[in-house]
Amino acid sequence: MGRIFETALYPYSRSPDQDAATPARHRVVIVGAGPVGLAAAIDLATQGIEVVVLDENDRVSWGSRAICFAKRPLEILDRLGAGQRMVDKGVLWNLGKVFFGDRQVYDFNLLPEAGHRRPAFINLQQYHFENLLCERLFELQAKGAPVELRGGNRVASVTEQEFGMELEVETPQGSYRLQADWVIACDGAGSPVRKMMGLDFVGRVFEDNFLIADVVMDGDFPTERWFWFDPPFNRGQSALLHKQPDGVWRIDLQLGWNIDREAAVKPENVIPRLREMLGDEVKFELEWVSVYTFQCRRMEKFRHGRVIFAGDSAHQVSPFGARGANSGLQDVDNLCWKLALVAEGKAPESLLDSYDAERVQGAEENILNSTRSTDFITPKTEVSRLFRDAVLDLSEAHEFARPLVNSGRLSVPCIHDASALNGPDALPGAPARTRPGAPCADAPLGAGFLLDRLGNDFVLLTIDAEAPERIEAGPIAARRLALRTADDATGALAARYLGGAGQGVYLIRPDQIVAARWAGFEQTAVQAALRRATGGE
Ligand SMILES: Cc1cc2nc3c(=O)[nH]c(=O)nc-3n(C[C@H](O)[C@H](O)[C@H](O)COP(=O)(O)OP(=O)(O)OC[C@H]3O[C@@H](n4cnc5c(N)ncnc54)[C@H](O)[C@@H]3O)c2cc1C
Repeated sequence: MGRIFETALYPYSRSPDQDAATPARHRVVIVGAGPVGLAAAIDLATQGIEVVVLDENDRVSWGSRAICFAKRPLEILDRLGAGQRMVDKGVLWNLGKVFFGDRQVYDFNLLPEAGHRRPAFINLQQYHFENLLCERLFELQAKGAPVELRGGNRVASVTEQEFGMELEVETPQGSYRLQADWVIACDGAGSPVRKMMGLDFVGRVFEDNFLIADVVMDGDFPTERWFWFDPPFNRGQSALLHKQPDGVWRIDLQLGWNIDREAAVKPENVIPRLREMLGDEVKFELEWVSVYTFQCRRMEKFRHGRVIFAGDSAHQVSPFGARGANSGLQDVDNLCWKLALVAEGKAPESLLDSYDAERVQGAEENILNSTRSTDFITPKTEVSRLFRDAVLDLSEAHEFARPLVNSGRLSVPCIHDASALNGPDALPGAPARTRPGAPCADAPLGAGFLLDRLGNDFVLLTIDAEAPERIEAGPIAARRLALRTADDATGALAARYLGGAGQGVYLIRPDQIVAARWAGFEQTAVQAALRRATGGE
């Protein structure tokens, strides 16, 4: 077997659908087996929703793309049963250092608080990530989960019919048609589905080029994120260094706009640049070299009837801040429980509009942060450069200037304060971080962690409060998770969920987002919040 990215993990094989007299019908068809499509398939299959994934390719993507995976997406991957293998393979890091010229101006810790299962970040090559997701998907398939991944299946058209959607799919053995109740378009930034439907994708193009060099080396650098502004080895530009598994280091060097892109990637030009950065003693080999430019843009709406866009097909950001694949995973987390309830007829279709509202908010935040980072890293005017350099100078000795330094504000989840799904915030004294619309904060629970006990269904978390084991509101149920502060050895649960309150009751969504909270259990209030959180009145 060759390297992962050289191996056909899901080679084309003829499907019985290709020989069906009338187009076969599926509940959900996902277009694209990138990280977002694979994660969506795992999520739906775990919930028992039948799903077929179509990809024109038959293997993980090769090249240097996503490397940093943030804490919240790792928690989502835990829920999908793929988090531990990611963390086992990845390189864990919490510390970052910022350099200006030839001096370090400060360092920062992205996870200053203890009591969380997952670190602030891991670094892992995207091809490993996709491979681990495929592994998880095949594992579910082997256990009988209703999921199928078809390689060599290129979607050529998507049309709306009375019953749902019809797709035309091209394969090495000709084309066939199939039907779907729902289509999730996870077909990447160039999204053919988006183009087929004539939909918008607007935003800003940044006029800069960055060289990516993945090098295999035994360098003596610690496992930290190092970012340089105006370093001696890349004057007037920026540079970034990250460690990845298998002794691979990722180096990004800003190149400026008017460059010869073909010449920039030639080893005879790349190697001297890297020598200047790493020093003559360090031995390295090039694994991958490319030049990238980027855009920040999004679709106006992510849901178009029975076609739902997720990941890069819906929104695209600059790589600064690690928000691409990370936010795609958050789309999946937000969408799949809603789609499962709607597909099973347990919730109204309008529940899917909350996916649109919540994830458009997420995309807006990401685009804003990513654009700000890009503007700071690559100032567009002399005045902005002077301001940027003054901030960097000040940040060495003065803490107040450090929040102004922006070398990529690394991805954190957004809080859906205005979500139509939120119920009451009726727990006086409780901390704001776990208010309705916020993702649950993790906390140690005996030998495990709180988040391991949440997710995939609605949970009524009670802390020192009484409630029945199960609450129903029509077809939707919530199971109780009863916890006591007497067992909260570190005090983290009480600090993160009660604050000054003596006891509390939380309604938590299947994507581990707080839906509502109260000081005590009251049946009609909880039922009303359950209905509201599932798109009811
Ligand atoms: C230089 C760089 C650095 C990055 N760093 C980070 C980072 O550190 N952290 C982070 O979170 N993100 C990062 N990203 C972004 C990340 O790579 C993307 O956000 C991520 O790949 C998006 O996943 P996706 O599944 O939406 O789309 P893709 O990965 O693009 O997958 C789309 C899939 O759709 C398939 N497809 C396309 N058309 C069709 C069709 N007609 N029929 C069938 N299949 C089709 C393709 O074959 C592909 O498999 C980076 C990106 C770049 C370029």
